[in-house]
Parts: sequence; C-alpha cells; structure tokens
Amino acid sequence: MDQFTVKTHSRSEMIDITEEIMFALKRSGVKNGACYVFVPHTTAAVTINENADPDVPKDILTELDKIVPLDGAYRHIEGNSAAHIKASLFGSSEVVLVEGGSLVLGPWQSIFFCEFDGPRARSVMVRFVPDVL
Ligand code: ZN
Repeated sequence: MDQFTVKTHSRSEMIDITEEIMFALKRSGVKNGACYVFVPHTTAAVTINENADPDVPKDILTELDKIVPLDGAYRHIEGNSAAHIKASLFGSSEVVLVEGGSLVLGPWQSIFFCEFDGPRARSVMVRFVPDVL
C-alpha cells in the first residue's frame, strides 16, 4: 500500500490528486490492473469529475452547501454533521483501471480529494492490484 498527505486550505475544497496517484502507480511498478484509492476520514471523501473547468468543482461545492447546509438542525455535538453527510454522499473510495502503466481516465476526468471539514492534513491510501495471468 502507498500513502500520501493532502494539506487542505479551507472548510470545503476539492483538490486534484491525480498526479500524486500517478506517482504512486510508477513507484508500484504495476502495468495492468486496478487502482484502489481510499480516504480514511469521516469528513472527507474522494470523487472523480471534470478537471478542465475549475468552475465545475466550485459549482459542486456550492450546490452541496444548499443540499446539506452547514447550520442544519443536526444532533451531532461536534458540530460538523454537514461534513459527515457530504463525505457519505461522495464515499471514501474510488477504483480506477490501470492499463499500460497509466490510469484509465476520461480526457476530462481527474481524481479529487474532497475536504468537507478543513483545513487539515489528510491521508490518502492507494493500492495497485496487478492482473493475474
Ligand atoms: Zn463529527
């Protein structure tokens, strides 16, 4: 398993981590198989979406705040229920195929770390599983 840290800078943020995962793939030596990306946090998540227009992640975060408002009538005493709910909506893992030593992503796709209760230092875990011949 490989692991790296993501430093976030605001309460809600989507950070493109595709390059870090590609570096981890190169370190692994896996040419064909699957890449598992896992975020071991309850108020952060991982998702795949458009990287070309920076307004896309901004729109996602803006609309998420409308669906899951920060000041809802939550019971959780820590005061970060909105972040927990957003993390569950997005999920803590993604699977990306690996072919020819590269991640198989669409031309506009990136893998985003999603911070919902920052700023913090976060971890991302990655495992590459090679095809069995
Ligand atoms: Zn909490």
